[in-house]
Amino acid sequence: MTDGTRTTRSANVRVEQNEPGGESRPAAAASLLSRLPSVDAVLAAANAAQFTAFSHHAAVVAIRHVIGLWRDRIRDGETVDVGGIRADAVAEAACRQLEEWSKPRLRRVVNATGVVLHTNLGRAWLADAAVDAVVQAASGAVNLEYDVDSGERGERDRLVEEHLCVLTGAEAATVVNNNAAAVILVLNALAHGREVVVSRGELVEIGGSFRIPDIMASSGARLREVGTTNRTHLADYRNAIGPDTALLMKVHASNYRIVGFSASVGLEDLAALAREHPDVVVVEDLGAGALVDLSSCGLAPEPVVADRLRAGADLVTASGDKLLGGPQCGIVVGRRDLVEKLRRHPLKRALRCDKLTLAALEATLRIYRFGASPEHAIPTLRFLLRPAGELRPIGEAAIALLSVALGRDYRFELVASAAQTGSGSQPDVSINSLAIAVQSAGASATRIERRFRASQPPIVGRIEHDVFLLDLRLVDDPRDLVPNSCAP
Ligand SMILES: *Cc1c(COP(=O)(O)O)cnc(C)c1O
Repeated sequence: MTDGTRTTRSANVRVEQNEPGGESRPAAAASLLSRLPSVDAVLAAANAAQFTAFSHHAAVVAIRHVIGLWRDRIRDGETVDVGGIRADAVAEAACRQLEEWSKPRLRRVVNATGVVLHTNLGRAWLADAAVDAVVQAASGAVNLEYDVDSGERGERDRLVEEHLCVLTGAEAATVVNNNAAAVILVLNALAHGREVVVSRGELVEIGGSFRIPDIMASSGARLREVGTTNRTHLADYRNAIGPDTALLMKVHASNYRIVGFSASVGLEDLAALAREHPDVVVVEDLGAGALVDLSSCGLAPEPVVADRLRAGADLVTASGDKLLGGPQCGIVVGRRDLVEKLRRHPLKRALRCDKLTLAALEATLRIYRFGASPEHAIPTLRFLLRPAGELRPIGEAAIALLSVALGRDYRFELVASAAQTGSGSQPDVSINSLAIAVQSAGASATRIERRFRASQPPIVGRIEHDVFLLDLRLVDDPRDLVPNSCAP
């Protein structure tokens, strides 16, 4: 019972006003209240199996909660079935409440949205080898910061630095919790109290409150905007450089495009300009850029980290759980002296990755560096690259199962669908995919959507033109698409 319902009933207000003495409380309520069991009585009445999985404290909290609910209902003047307030019934209700409270909040869901890197659904799925590495790191001691050969303290970046350097051609690399953290670290360590020159066409918002101007302000760097939204020229940068300039920064506008009458300055030109000013550093925030070039596998072209370093970026930052298909992390690669500055900065300590992230990242990088076919081993790549033809038999099998499970009211049809890379990457690239359109004479698309979402695990699809779609791009097992709950 909420306080809101209680105060709307005038009769109850009267009861409450008379508390705690309660002389004028209706007799029935008084007698019911006196029959509420004590916590000890409920514990004594519980059967042996009911609370064994829970701590004594948790059981007492749940029992008090249930008794409290009954007390509220009685005081609210509700008609109360005496059977419900018997000690064994309260034990049963408390047990169900505990089960509800203690259910894991982070649960598996079926991603039938067709969005491969769905930020709300946890972005990349890790490769099997990365999952194994996480389990090993999670379950015992590991050499996170320990050099086994010398027996001395080590540096956790060393677990991944060499792989990153070989894969990107960088001199040095460091890793933090996400790409936003990488950008913040770079700005703090290299540009605090100084100016960072950014084109107005690149002052982007990536989503989830990552806005370049705000990040800049919070890191104590001064933003020096140049050019216009659609056109920025080399002279704009040149004119902005002064004694306070610390960085020229390029941001890969991964989630939108400026088309038409537009101009931006290439990294080569920016780097050449920076070289005229020995203190000025060129940084590119690549975000969803690719660690290695996968366009030969059929992936839509993305800027490749190694190319950006070769083109003259002193540092490049990228996301670990976007196209890399690894754990959430932010990767910084580039000049050794600059990476050393980042490492020595106190923020690095605050933003550093834990052993689980590093375990997953190391395993993912080993696949890229040594694996026979990263495009199969890395789920993100496999889902992005699998041909639509591979989805057809999965869809047909799922339709056969769905027809049995949902009955004659429902119609299922395989339709062409446009899947997406997701997490702000390649918004203008749609991936040919296949989806099951689910329709019913008796239920709207939103009702069908709710029914699939009520399944265990929840099946998350998408509604397009008023039709509920289950996109097959991330589905391997047709059984995953069959809702097991009868909820409407
Ligand atoms: C995604 C993205 C970010 C934020 O990266 P997270 O890893 O999500 O913190 C920053 N910059 C660019 C260009 C991005 O694409």
